[in-house]
Formats: sequence, C-alpha cells, structure tokens
Amino acid sequence: MKASQFFISTLKEAPADAEVVSHKLMMRAGLIKKLGAGIYNYMPMGLRVIRKVEAIVREEMNRAGAVELTMPVVQPAELWQETGRFEKMGPELLRIQDRHGRDFVVQPTSEEVITDIARQELRSYKQLPKNFYQIQTKFRDERRPRFGLMRGREFTMKDAYSFDRDPSAAKASYQVMAQAYRRIFDRFGLTYRAVAADSGAIGGDLSEEFQVIAATGEDAIVYCPQSDYAANMEKAEALAPSGPRGTAAKALTKTATPGKSTCADVAELLGVPLSTTVKSLVLATDETNDAGEIVKTQVWLLLLRGDHDMNEIKVAKVPWLEGFRFATLGEIDEHFGCKPGYLGPIGLKKPLKIVADREVALMADWICGANEVDFHITGVNWGRDLPEPDAVADLRNVVAGDRSPDGKGELAIERGIEVGHVFYLGTKYSRAMNATFLDENGKPQPLEMGCYGIGITRLPAAAIEQNHDERGIIWPDAIAPFTVVVCPVGMDRSEAVKATAESLYADLLAAGVDVILDDRGERPGAMFADWELIGVPHRVTIGDKSLKDGMVEYQHRRDAAATKVAVVDILAHVK
Ligand code: ATP
Ligand code: MG
Ligand code: MG
Ligand code: MG
Repeated sequence: MKASQFFISTLKEAPADAEVVSHKLMMRAGLIKKLGAGIYNYMPMGLRVIRKVEAIVREEMNRAGAVELTMPVVQPAELWQETGRFEKMGPELLRIQDRHGRDFVVQPTSEEVITDIARQELRSYKQLPKNFYQIQTKFRDERRPRFGLMRGREFTMKDAYSFDRDPSAAKASYQVMAQAYRRIFDRFGLTYRAVAADSGAIGGDLSEEFQVIAATGEDAIVYCPQSDYAANMEKAEALAPSGPRGTAAKALTKTATPGKSTCADVAELLGVPLSTTVKSLVLATDETNDAGEIVKTQVWLLLLRGDHDMNEIKVAKVPWLEGFRFATLGEIDEHFGCKPGYLGPIGLKKPLKIVADREVALMADWICGANEVDFHITGVNWGRDLPEPDAVADLRNVVAGDRSPDGKGELAIERGIEVGHVFYLGTKYSRAMNATFLDENGKPQPLEMGCYGIGITRLPAAAIEQNHDERGIIWPDAIAPFTVVVCPVGMDRSEAVKATAESLYADLLAAGVDVILDDRGERPGAMFADWELIGVPHRVTIGDKSLKDGMVEYQHRRDAAATKVAVVDILAHVK
C-alpha cells in the first residue's frame, strides 16, 4: 500500500468526550470516527486492525472445528418471545417494528436464531457435535456507551454456539473452545488472564472470561500469584470462604425478603439505625396486567430535599411512596449503567453480596440517573459517610491478601477488560425452544449447548490500553494496521532515496510483509509523528546520508533510537 493512495487522517487533539487513552488514540490516529453515542465508523486504518483480529479468530475457530455462518442482524421477535427474552431482556435489547407493525429485534447475541436453525437441521445424534459461529454486527443499547469501541452500542462480536448430545460431550466442546481462546489471545500478543466467571442461573463451574489486563479495565479480577487460581470479583465473592468483612458488609449479606420492603428493612439490612439520614432512594414501580403479571418495571432515583430520616420515609408512612418498592441490584445496574456497589443495599430481592467497588468509591460519590436522557445526578450518597477509599477494600467479601481458595497462596486484585467469554449453557435454550435430536434409540433429547463470544471491536481498544506511550499506539505485530512503514526522507530531491524506497517496498511486498510506503512527501517530523501515533511497529527510514554507505535506519516503535542496517538485512528485522 502506498500512503498517497491510502487514507490517513490524524489529529493533534483528542475530542473532549474521550476519557480513556485507547479512545483518545483511536480518534487521534484516525482509526474510528464517531457517528452517534456508541456508534462509530471504522475508518480505513481502523478497519485493517479489525480485519486482522477477525482473521486470527476465524483461523483458530476453523482449526478448532467450528463452522462459520451468518445470521441476520434484524431478527423476528417471535423467536425471542419463545425464550421469553423479548419481554425479559430490558432496554439493552433494541426492539423495532416494520411497516406492518411486526416486532423485530436487532441482535445483541444470537442464541434464539441458532437454536431455531439447530432444531430444524440437527435431527440425529449422528450430526453431533456441531459448533456454528459468526462474526457479525451486534447492537446493545448500553445505558452508558463509553470509551469508544470499548463499550459501543453497535459493535462486532464473534459468537459461537456448540450443540452436543449430552452434558459430558457439551463440556468437552466447551474445553475445545476454552483452548482455542487461549491460542487466539496468545496470538494477539496481549497480556491476559482466563478467569472463572459466575455461570449465573445455570449453575456449575463452566464459565470463563478472558480479561486483558489494564489499569483502566471496568472489571476487577482476583488471582493468586502462587497458583493458577483466577476469578472475576463476582465469582470470587460467591465462593469467598471467609465470608463478608466489616460491619457494613455483614449487614449487606443478610438475605432480604422478596417483595415490598420498607425503610425499616433497608435500615436493618444496612445495619444502620432507622434514624440514619438519607438523601436519595432507588425505587421501582411495577406495572401489572389483569393477571397480576409484571409487564413493565420503571426504576426511579428519588432525591430527597434536605436530609431525611429512615423513619420519616418509611414507605407505609409516606403516601407518595405507595406503590414503590426498592429496586433490585440488577435493575439499578441496568437502568443506571453502574454496578450497584454502595447503592447495592437497596436491592432487596436476593442475598446481597456485592458491596462498594473500588473504582466507584474513588469517584467519591455515585453518578446516577433516572429513566430519562440527560437526567443524571452526581454526588448521590446515602447519608451515612462513604468510607475512605482505603477502607473500601474492607467492605468486600474478597480482599487482597486473603488466602486463595486452593490454599496455595494469597489473593491479589487487578483490573481487566473482558474481551472474551465462554459459557456452558446446558439445555436452557433448547428446552425453551423445543430443540431436540433423536438419540440411538430414536428418542428425542434436548440439545446440550454452549456459547462463546469475543469482542472483535473491543479487542483493539484493549490492546491500546495495554500498549501505548506518550507518542501514541504501539501495536503488537499480529494486529497492526501495517507491520512496516517505509519512510523516505527527501524522496522528491533524491533519485537514490526514491529508487531504494520503491525497491525495498517491492521486496517487502513480495516477501509477504504488510508494508506501507509513505510517499506523501511530508516533512520527516510530521511523517514520523503520524506513524508513531498510528503505532506501526517497524519503521525503516531511508535518507541520502546513510544510503551512501548502503545503509538505512531501522527503528522498532519501542526503541529509543534508530539503528543503521544494511538494506539487504531489513527483511530479517521485520519478519
Ligand atoms: P460487559 O460485561 O463488558 O458488558 P458482557 O458480559 O455483557 O460484556 P457478553 O455477552 O459476554 O458481554 O459478550 C461477549 C463479548 O462481547 C464480551 O466478552 C465483550 O468482549 C464483547 N462486548 C460485550 N458488550 C460490548 C460492547 N457494548 N461493546 C463492545 N464489545 C462488547
Ligand atoms: Mg454487558
Ligand atoms: Mg461481562
Ligand atoms: Mg460476558
């Protein structure tokens, strides 16, 4: 590729809404361009990175025996009604109607459609196992799209779905995928950890997240440096042998009564006196149909004027609170887009394990919102003093320094970015959708399933969080937009420079190297700044002076200075 024919568009300054380094650098390097909240154009330079990520994923999925297909982005609601997710999924699911008023969804994931395919196509045990995958556009109406491609609303995911005859075969398919994921993330050249994740309602142990280690990661990971124990925080807390720490945490782990609760319940749950002052409440209202089934839930953040006493706002006592209940953890997370750490105690539907999160506590106060656009409120607290950041660790069920569950050492905590997730599903979807196959005895059996995702467009953002410096991105070779850039200095003045640049470019191309020749005629300073920002790992500079001795300059993006290398030796440096 020649730079004059390609499209390069770099910026000196990052836009004001870019908070994390990957978002800033992706915008400045011209990899992406914003179209709307959480919606981006993948510009030519960025698309090259995404295509390389896809190619590696595709190669390893094929190697692992998965077969590629493509499912529609827009999917009929009927299938989603069969599993109940059309109603249950909440506002992350984008629902649309066609001109006839028929309901559709824009796929956030594709269990329903693949299960529909499976129930029609996989009729006999002889066709099993099968693993189908796609690399396809997803849409999730994230409450807080942010950090550029890291948490977009439209993004690309590789999603795979395995089908097996029984649980042990399904678990074997899961292990094949978990192994393939290790190969994939090894090839990207990133530092990552596979951590045990909570498999939620399905139970069992078979769920792992692949987390790229980065200080800016949204997830907390618990691991043991002396062994291979690693889990995400939710999973680690669920298993914590020592139980909750500190009085607040103890109060929070009490099992709450489902259904309507009063402030007295909250006070008891929090372990605070009823006279504790509060400034805000997160409440919910349920709209029910004639059959008494909940058809819609609204979550409300109520800011109280002045300080209120728990007593005073006892639900039963305050007429305007009638019909409200306290919101659950999941509802708070979904509606306010934040993990309900300190607000967690208000959720009353299940035993509460989650307590204040370090990241949130460092923000000092919560940022919350109501169910309305641009109605976000900062500084939301319970009236009780928030703990000092250092004390927050004590509120967790799991803290650094605890013994690891395998007894081999102490636990440490770090932050990560979830780039992949493998999950054993069992028969959750096949039973809901009646997807069966005939076993050897001709008897119908539900298909055993697993699902496996990789955030294709999140991955480059994670790679940048881990690999950058003050000048810009430093791509691992495997996913760099170009592996090598050839930078001739004074190409218009020197025939020798021009000829060498052209022939080196041709040689590298012939050797299968992904090379770009910068023939734009930029001044050296601007030209180098561009490529350092874009993050091409290998640079070859050609100038008249060193060329007299048959030499060019080679510099890796991580090197402090260039070294002189004979033209004939360049290939060895970049391969
Ligand atoms: P998160 O916890 O970050 O919201 P998730 O657990 O909801 O992610 P999964 O349903 O497990 O995501 O989807 C598989 C993969 O898709 C994730 O591991 C992640 O890499 C990617 N992904 C999920 N949501 C987004 C998003 N909004 N933008 C970009 N990538 C995403
Ligand atoms: Mg999510
Ligand atoms: Mg997740
Ligand atoms: Mg996940």
